[in-house]
Amino acid sequence: MRLLLVEDDAMLGRGVLAGLKKQGYSVDWMSAGQSALQCLDEEEYDLVVLDLGLPDMDGTDVLKLMRKAGCTTPVIILTARDSIADRVGGLDHGADDYLAKPFDSDELMARIRALLRRRSGRADRTILYRDIVLYPDAMRVTYHGADVTLPRREYMLLQELLTNTGRVLTRDQLEQAVYDMGQDVASNAIEVHVHHLRKKFSNDLIRTIRGVGYLVEKA
Ligand code: CA
Repeated sequence: MRLLLVEDDAMLGRGVLAGLKKQGYSVDWMSAGQSALQCLDEEEYDLVVLDLGLPDMDGTDVLKLMRKAGCTTPVIILTARDSIADRVGGLDHGADDYLAKPFDSDELMARIRALLRRRSGRADRTILYRDIVLYPDAMRVTYHGADVTLPRREYMLLQELLTNTGRVLTRDQLEQAVYDMGQDVASNAIEVHVHHLRKKFSNDLIRTIRGVGYLVEKA
């Protein structure tokens, strides 16, 4: 687990850094907003501990900019400004948790563990199959690490097949998974989607079981 600590108070920073390292996390410690944003741009972190009062910019601006750049890494904010307005404002900008200064180190560690647990729970929803990764929350697909753009029905068909690997799915079953009830479906619709999926991924991803339906082998 790799964490980014953004804190300009040297004494507090040293204390938090020591606490985090004791928990076994790798930590990069930055004391300014710009250098933190640069780290976030260049490295992958599992969590960010962010102070709001930074010398070069406000911590909430760091948060806003990282979220705007599409970074979804959980953020726990450290703030002396423990007012309701700050809390609500920070949540609006995509913070995951807060801790008011002064805080107890054990409390910070417990909050971090909770956020990391929550994050891994979310990550478990992803579907991995060989070189394909599906992110159902975002209806996003990557193949060999690169994004693949799929129309909604192709995405749904792929998700249905990959969550049922090793099972033959009939055309009826697939139609039900992909189309709304009562929708007019061309008799070859599934066949056409399968054809597109094979072209976008690989020919042998989906096997045709003659007279029955389709199968994706277990990985
Ligand atoms: Ca500060």
